[in-house]
Amino acid sequence: MRVGIGYDVHVFGEQEDLILGGVEIDYVKGLVGHSDADVLLHSIMDALLGAMGAGDIGRLFPDDDPAYEGISSLQLLKEVKLLSFDKGFLINNLDAVIIAQQPKLADKIRFMEAKIADILEVDIARINIKATTTERLGFVGRKEGIAAQAIVSLNKGVDN
Ligand SMILES: [Zn+2]
Repeated sequence: MRVGIGYDVHVFGEQEDLILGGVEIDYVKGLVGHSDADVLLHSIMDALLGAMGAGDIGRLFPDDDPAYEGISSLQLLKEVKLLSFDKGFLINNLDAVIIAQQPKLADKIRFMEAKIADILEVDIARINIKATTTERLGFVGRKEGIAAQAIVSLNKGVDN
């Protein structure tokens, strides 16, 4: 069994859409980034790549590569999943937390879990997403951006 950790932060921008866990969230601001700035999926991909010993998303999808400009992070997650299949890994479980003062996300969490489980081709029971605030402290508390952390455990299924 292998574990990996991921962490990511994106800053809010006025002209952006807010997409978290592949789900569009209705909010006055969105996150700024080279791709769709899906901070949750980025932290999940980094956790998966970490567990595989395969670096991070910056190495896999360089942000100076025009191929990834505005790309859906669901598409990137699919590529990371294919890499994990190639290497013979199976997802045991994935746990992640979105750290945001606003917006409220409780009613969107199940949709994110469903989307992520679908892309990763695992049972939704293996995927757990949470959201928390920072009690108004720090950059998250000042609503300057959103952070996300993820941890994943993989089992080596077949030896590739
Ligand atoms: Zn990111």
